[in-house]
Amino acid sequence: MDGAIELSTKRRVVSAEGATGHLTVDISALARNYAKLCSLLAPVRAAAVVKADAYGLGVERVAQTLYDMDCRHFFVAQFAEAVGLRPVLAQDAQIFVLNGLQPGNEATCAEGGIVPVLNSLQQWQRWSAMAKSLKRTLPAVVQFDTGMARLGVPPEERSALAEGLANENNVEILFIMSHLASANELESEQNDAQLTEMTRIADEFSGFDICFANSGGIFLGAPYHGVLARPGIALYGGAPTTTGEPNPMEPVVGLEVAVVQTRTVPTGAKIGYGGAHVAEKQTRLATIAAGYADGLPRSLSGRGAVYYKGTRLPIVGRVSMDSITVDVSALPKGTLTLGSFVEVLGPHQSIDELARDAGTISYEILTSLGDRYDRHYR
Ligand SMILES: *Cc1c(COP(=O)(O)O)cnc(C)c1O
Repeated sequence: MDGAIELSTKRRVVSAEGATGHLTVDISALARNYAKLCSLLAPVRAAAVVKADAYGLGVERVAQTLYDMDCRHFFVAQFAEAVGLRPVLAQDAQIFVLNGLQPGNEATCAEGGIVPVLNSLQQWQRWSAMAKSLKRTLPAVVQFDTGMARLGVPPEERSALAEGLANENNVEILFIMSHLASANELESEQNDAQLTEMTRIADEFSGFDICFANSGGIFLGAPYHGVLARPGIALYGGAPTTTGEPNPMEPVVGLEVAVVQTRTVPTGAKIGYGGAHVAEKQTRLATIAAGYADGLPRSLSGRGAVYYKGTRLPIVGRVSMDSITVDVSALPKGTLTLGSFVEVLGPHQSIDELARDAGTISYEILTSLGDRYDRHYR
């Protein structure tokens, strides 16, 4: 590997001094979440999905922590992420590229010990041709589409692939995989339908191990577990299911943001862009130093809240690029001053709760966390 490609998701490091947002990543909670999933799965193993900078938490720290807990399978989405992660992990860790084998990446994958997830007959053919030219066997995973129509060998290519595998053995298939579209809904019929399709594929391609479950899939039970599960969000504290079950995972991310101005406005005062909020009574406000550029979605305008020692402080008016304004009238006067910090994510507000208020999912909250926070790993 020539090292020319830097990890594209690497974040700027802001010095703690002067930062107006503190992002805390609780590495020990991450480790406990991994251990919990491992014990739910045992004897099946748990990989780690670390795409998008480990869902925004910092792929190097996350991957190293999980490697130290005997995780040996790491999934990224993109080739460049794999190239960046490869030198971070020992060679006995396997790195898989979910988005597949893009033309031109074959040599780097082969030389760099990166395992492509082959998503089509044509990708297998190119990988096999690479193996032939190197006069060696190359490892791969084959992904099948079981009803999501996103990535994976489509049904109409299956027989040609089976024939190819029977005639040419220079690609070593480590396991076959598929991805669940509705695993966050335990009762969804789509889970059943995809499992049935996966079972059919496993019969067609008998002899290969199966990798199927994401975080939600782990909670669907043993038939979904295969030999290796691929959790992402559950590692990072997100709820694996979203149909009302309590979240069994521990929160990993905390976010505190500084107050940069306070004021009292009279009845009728317009607050924020567009005058979208008008004070109904005299109101005490605080301006908080994080906005949509820092991952607080603009859809939180007039919705959602931050917390101060458990007191809910509703967001009023529109979310700006660099700030939000909150109503602090519920706090005794003078409680918040310049330099006070309020909780955006923490004991009173989970990533799932903030996501719900923003009309999105925890995944998007985590992967949008800005790079203007200083980051602490605990
Ligand atoms: C992102 C992803 C995962 C992880 O999903 P979570 O819901 O975060 O556990 C697993 N498999 C594939 C193919 C993915 O794209």
